[in-house]
Amino acid sequence: MKKLIIASNNKHKIEEIKSMLCGMPFEIRSLKEENIDIDVVEDGTTFEENSKKKATEIYSYLKKRGEDNFLVLADDSGLEVDSLNGAPGVYSARYAGEHGNDYKNNIKLLEEMKGFKGDDRKARFVCVISLVDENGETKVVRGEVDGYIIEELKTEGGFGYDPLFFYEGFNKTFGEASSEEKNAISHRGNALKKLKEIL
Ligand code: IMP
Repeated sequence: MKKLIIASNNKHKIEEIKSMLCGMPFEIRSLKEENIDIDVVEDGTTFEENSKKKATEIYSYLKKRGEDNFLVLADDSGLEVDSLNGAPGVYSARYAGEHGNDYKNNIKLLEEMKGFKGDDRKARFVCVISLVDENGETKVVRGEVDGYIIEELKTEGGFGYDPLFFYEGFNKTFGEASSEEKNAISHRGNALKKLKEIL
């Protein structure tokens, strides 16, 4: 079976992607499972740029390593708050300075939004997925989901900004939702649905 490599070191993203692509005719592998110790520098200014960069750099690395007949999928995602001019955006993972410190990022977001009420608390998760196929061609899809940022950190479920992201359709946060509920409507779920259509 053809390998589909997920170009990410984020175990939460990998879990979500693996569960949503389950049943597809690929052997889905993470970088760790392929013994690839590379952290692609995310220096783009858009989700599209970073997502393509991650997919193409890992693809080139594997080609140079002599691998054949594989695909590479990369996810670049984040949270956009209109009343913060789109922040944290592409800097979502390192909003509070330290890469991947979800707690500090959540606290910083709450601080920045202090005093914001109603529609000023609107937010959207964005996920851009790039897929480099076995011929080296790149396809890019985007998924989004709208919600609100609640005013205090209550639960610890999910990852990233999940505990603060209130989804009206569920009347609860992504942190409180089950993974099945979240995947059915999330930015990542929406992007993967589009990808499945073109795969
Ligand atoms: P990336 O590795 O640069 O794509 O960073 C994505 C960052 O965006 C994560 O570290 C989270 O802070 C945030 N993020 C992306 N997707 C989600 C999600 O599904 N739930 C919560 N936070 C997310």
